[in-house]
Amino acid sequence: MDPTPTILRHFASLKYAPPKGRFTVLAAFYLVDAHQDVEDQRVMVISMATGTKCLATKNYSKIGDVVHDFHAEVLARRGAVRWLLQEMTRESEWLVAHANDEWTLREGLTLHMYISELPCGEASTRATALLQTLANPQMAALKSQATADPQNISQGLARGREGYELLNRVRTKPGRADAPVTNAMSCSDKIALWCGVGIQGALPVSLGLRPIYINSITIGSVHGVEALQGAEKLLLEDCNRAFRGRLGDIALGDGYSIYRPEVTFTPSIFEYGRVTAPERSSCNEAMCWIANEATVEVLNNGIRRGTLSKNRALPALRPRVCKASLYVIYQRALAWRTGSDRMSGAITYHAAKHGGAGADSETGCDPAQAIRGQALRLRAYHTAKERLRGNNGPLHGWVRCTGDYETFVL
Ligand SMILES: [Zn+2]
Repeated sequence: MDPTPTILRHFASLKYAPPKGRFTVLAAFYLVDAHQDVEDQRVMVISMATGTKCLATKNYSKIGDVVHDFHAEVLARRGAVRWLLQEMTRESEWLVAHANDEWTLREGLTLHMYISELPCGEASTRATALLQTLANPQMAALKSQATADPQNISQGLARGREGYELLNRVRTKPGRADAPVTNAMSCSDKIALWCGVGIQGALPVSLGLRPIYINSITIGSVHGVEALQGAEKLLLEDCNRAFRGRLGDIALGDGYSIYRPEVTFTPSIFEYGRVTAPERSSCNEAMCWIANEATVEVLNNGIRRGTLSKNRALPALRPRVCKASLYVIYQRALAWRTGSDRMSGAITYHAAKHGGAGADSETGCDPAQAIRGQALRLRAYHTAKERLRGNNGPLHGWVRCTGDYETFVL
């Protein structure tokens, strides 16, 4: 079943369009319910986003109030994390809480992803080469040779589109040659990481959620694009290498393993995509929609559109999917789980993601158990992540943010 018509209808129902003369990328996460007979009702979209930009590292926030990377895939994934955390604050129709304190998706549900074009980085290596060569063969040759940094490449890392024809590289996100440097990794690399550790991130893991893997990825803008005609097989190979092949059979430790999503190309066209009007330029603003939320949220430079910079940290004006907003919901879920209304506000976001922010003695549950459970789960999660991104891992070269971007408290 191709879910794209359902996804595109859902997008149309949100009544959002990028500004005139701009193209964007659409991405969505959705659940498929194997128990539903009616095809239309089998697909439940949990998050949807558009976006093509990210911030330069110098503009990152230290208090978690700005979204640093707002490529559609990353924003949709943050939306899915928010949705999961929200579902963990109540009796959920979609998640099941087990007696051992763990949560999983309800039986019969699987997670899937849609992207309106090939994601940046490894999965679009040869598509980029084909499109560049067509647009400007001389420039393509120049850019390919001139900006490759042998030292970086030997470490597995390439910056943006440098040496874009080289395979098996982790890459930072592409940008204009004169743009300030970003440390945001490409969407292909982030998706590859999710194939090992799940899409849920550390906070839901700390609360007991088992990793949730992407079962399939449906990608648009390959079929029907003239410059890519006849190259479908090659491009599918790139996707399979990016999300599956390059990860190998690495052992990730307790509870984690490489999950290889099925990749397919869809002929359905996203009307605001780059292929429908190549003369348009990419859209600065980004949009994010999450099931459970009535409205879409539009972002510009990582903050809500229309918000004055001096007001951007106010809880009511922060983006729904920034670190600080997700941390608030995490604390709500923690309180719901432990039966305590006491917030662990003094614990930094980083500590909650790495050490476990447990219950206290007022809750009636065994705090030592709760904390130990959280710590063990987080240790397993970070071990798996490290095996992927560490020195001998398939994603080694991954740029770590060394700045102090997670040590805020609420
Ligand atoms: Zn991207």
